[in-house]
Amino acid sequence: MAKIIDGKAIANKLNGQLQSDVAALSFVPGLAVVLVGDDPASQVYVRGKIKACEKIGIKSFEYRLPANCTQDDIAAQIDALNADANVHGVLLQLPLPDGFDSKALIQRISPEKDVDGLTYANMGRLMAGDEGLRPCTPSGCEILLKEEFDSLAGKIAVVIGRSELFGKPMAQMLLQNDCTVIQCHSKTKDLPSLCKQADIVIAAVGRAEMVKADWVKDGAFVIDVGINRLDNGKLAGDVDFNAVAAKADYITPVPGGVGPMTIAMLLQNTVLAAKRQNGVPKI
Ligand code: NAP
Repeated sequence: MAKIIDGKAIANKLNGQLQSDVAALSFVPGLAVVLVGDDPASQVYVRGKIKACEKIGIKSFEYRLPANCTQDDIAAQIDALNADANVHGVLLQLPLPDGFDSKALIQRISPEKDVDGLTYANMGRLMAGDEGLRPCTPSGCEILLKEEFDSLAGKIAVVIGRSELFGKPMAQMLLQNDCTVIQCHSKTKDLPSLCKQADIVIAAVGRAEMVKADWVKDGAFVIDVGINRLDNGKLAGDVDFNAVAAKADYITPVPGGVGPMTIAMLLQNTVLAAKRQNGVPKI
């Protein structure tokens, strides 16, 4: 039976350390969240982020724009936040309602304040192995792996999904940790047999319980990034949890695995960005 990775406990530990770190600063880190429209799931995510900020001493600023606002309205809001010295991190809550060009708006965020790590500048820095702001969810997964393994060198890692938000940066981070990475997507042929080779399987598709026990080799580390709402209202990941847990050595649950780590990494990125903008070297 696999060890169930308690992402909430690991995130709480990191948040506690960050809280002390923030208390020792001579300035208050600030995170601005821009929410467009009234998507209920996005509202829940934004509330969670703001609550987490308050808990550790980050000042949060929430800007709500109606779904019928224009691309220029959002751009103007981002420009104002880029120029605001009290705001060190700017997050545009995705997805935007239909009709907006999210890519263009994300690129408008100053790379120094891009706490989601989605600007081309930060993507490029990640690709080059340089310091920057890295996307939160893959950074959280990297920490979960490093909590268990001193080194990831030589491990075969399958990443299912190739989004810019998760799959691509995750594969890059694993590569930088000297894993041999197989990046899978909707056109991949024979996904089960590729997964079966992997020491690490990371699923980020958005299909409930897609990864089955017979896809996973004995002793694998399985990270479930997916969040799916079932007909009964419950949340499920992309992994068939109970069956896979019987084969793997490590598994993350949904909820309580990757989700809390994503928020913890957002807080870390905000404090890192604030320190850099205030000339404080990274500790
Ligand atoms: P996305 O942009 O929709 O990407 C999904 C990826 O899955 C795509 O690359 C797609 O391939 C691939 N895919 C679709 N069907 C597939 C199949 N049958 N076999 C193999 N690959 C397939 O989603 P995302 O933003 O990366 O998010 C993925 C999941 O993670 C979602 O459930 C999301 O809610 C969740 N998520 C959770 C967190 C968290 O904090 N826990 C954070 C981010 C995302 P193509 O590229 O070929 O279309």
